[in-house]
Amino acid sequence: MNPAKLESYKPEAVMVADGNKADHGYDYDLVVIGGGSGGMAAAKEAALLGAKVALCDFVKPSPEGTTWGLGGTCVNVGCIPKKLFHIGATLRESIQADANFFGISSVGVKPDEMGQPPTLKTDQNWMAVKDNIQNYIRSLNFKYRVGLREKSVQYLNKLASFKDNHTVELVDKKGQTSEITASRFLVATGGRPTPLDCEGGDLAISSDDVFFLDKDPGKTLCVGASYISLECAGFLAGMSKDVTVAVRSILLRGFDRECSERIGDYMKEHGVKFKTKVTPSKLERVENDRIKVTFSDGTDDVYDTVLGAVGRTADTIKLRLESVNVDTNPKNRKIKTINEQSSCPNIYAIGDVMDGCPELTPVAIQAGKALARRLYGGSKEPMDYINICTTVFTPIEYACIGLSEEDAIAKHGKDGIEVYHREFLPLEWSLSRHDSNAFAKILVDAKSSDEQVVGIHYVGPNAGEIMQGYGVSMKNGLTYRQLTDTVGIHPTSSEELVTLSITKSSGDDAAAGGC
Ligand code: FAD
Ligand code: NDP
Repeated sequence: MNPAKLESYKPEAVMVADGNKADHGYDYDLVVIGGGSGGMAAAKEAALLGAKVALCDFVKPSPEGTTWGLGGTCVNVGCIPKKLFHIGATLRESIQADANFFGISSVGVKPDEMGQPPTLKTDQNWMAVKDNIQNYIRSLNFKYRVGLREKSVQYLNKLASFKDNHTVELVDKKGQTSEITASRFLVATGGRPTPLDCEGGDLAISSDDVFFLDKDPGKTLCVGASYISLECAGFLAGMSKDVTVAVRSILLRGFDRECSERIGDYMKEHGVKFKTKVTPSKLERVENDRIKVTFSDGTDDVYDTVLGAVGRTADTIKLRLESVNVDTNPKNRKIKTINEQSSCPNIYAIGDVMDGCPELTPVAIQAGKALARRLYGGSKEPMDYINICTTVFTPIEYACIGLSEEDAIAKHGKDGIEVYHREFLPLEWSLSRHDSNAFAKILVDAKSSDEQVVGIHYVGPNAGEIMQGYGVSMKNGLTYRQLTDTVGIHPTSSEELVTLSITKSSGDDAAAGGC
């Protein structure tokens, strides 16, 4: 979900903590269920504030049998391996596309008659990348365990489910059961990939498996057209795999259409194939362990790997939430909350498992810390879910904050919005890539004084690094006037955002020259 969609979220009441009561008679003040981004942050913050805390984390193997260590989705099967594969793929692309323009060639290879070194031919070994990333992740798993110990959080590698609203039953990997009690519980169990629901759908792997594959994925079909499918398709294609994306409707639903289409165009130009308006209707195993996919339009093809990335489902099914009257949204099984408090007053929820929460690591962390501070630190500050930056790490990255152009027009009317935009060639591509441009766009409330910024969009290299700082300004009521009053840093792509002057309403071309 595009976080901008949460603009309408308004906390109804700020819950005030009743402090840390040591005399409640339970084993712990707080038991956190789920050791991912949100759970770990909340547990450590609560312990720091003096609460007696235990954290239960247990990874149920994926249907393929993949399992991993402490830290949750982000570190094991999400942001971290994904970004490292993305870095590896873009590094390879840079070596292949740009290196010779900077005079870099293999030692001993002579320049051609024009003095140009030949394009570097590269090979990227799947197992080497995969093993190095996995080794790094194992070191993080270890650091997280140490981190919990240092903060005096009791780590329990056990699967938890509610017995009553002050007791959870725990099962360890040998099947042995035990119970612990607590004054409060925090559910931070995240989500798991939604399986493909077509015939033979179990032949597809998911993002829980792709980063662990013990063989090169080869020719791959990515099903789905949002963050996960496009990011995986991007790094696989960047690693020279033959990749097709099966798109049911549109790319990146909820995001700015113009920017989403630019991503699709860039990926097509860089070798990713798109099958549009289709879903897989049947998967079957064929010779050489390959998978034949029949699509809803009657076409078929054979792949080495099929990756299902059709959304994620909240991991609540085994928690026995009904036994403690915790309300969930029947559509997605997520926990309904007000200020992270569930319908059972001593049970809270944060992160991907909380209904209405953007599925992003920093959101889970921030919400976990804010909740711990309210419960044990006397804070009255609710989590602010508005204006959250995000980046899609596709081969050309896309970062945004605030409203898409479509949502801005829906909210303010066509005459109420002005768009400042520019298409430009980033300096890092200027010697070698004349066919790809970056794009920056700022949406302003045309009727407000100094033109209040309601959305910032950037498609180009280092998008996440660029957008973070603008996120701070957006939180503080950024105006177009403040942007253009800011002196840029030259030569960078980020300076484009403080020098945008071409308006869409003028009809002038968004493409501009350098310097
Ligand atoms: P999780 O991190 O999912 O942690 C939940 C933990 O609870 C897990 O360890 C689980 O095993 C455990 N658990 C579940 N049930 C029980 C139980 N009954 N008892 C004990 N333990 C249990 N976000 C970004 O911000 N940037 C990105 O670039 C990004 N990339 C992503 C890429 C991929 C492929 C995926 C899948 C996600 C990505 N995300 C990204 C999203 C991000 O990973 C999640 O939003 C974040 O991890 C959610 O944190 P959480 O604490 O809510 O849950
Ligand atoms: P999303 O829920 O965002 O998107 C699901 C995609 O699958 C959509 O394109 C949807 O199409 C498609 N789809 C759904 N059902 C089917 C089906 N039956 N057949 C074919 N296609 C289908 O899920 P993701 O898995 O991509 O990501 C989950 C969340 O994880 C994201 O919302 C994001 O918050 C987080 N994440 C963040 C990242 C980041 O910060 N860079 C990276 C990766 C994940 P349609 O539009 O037609 O519904």
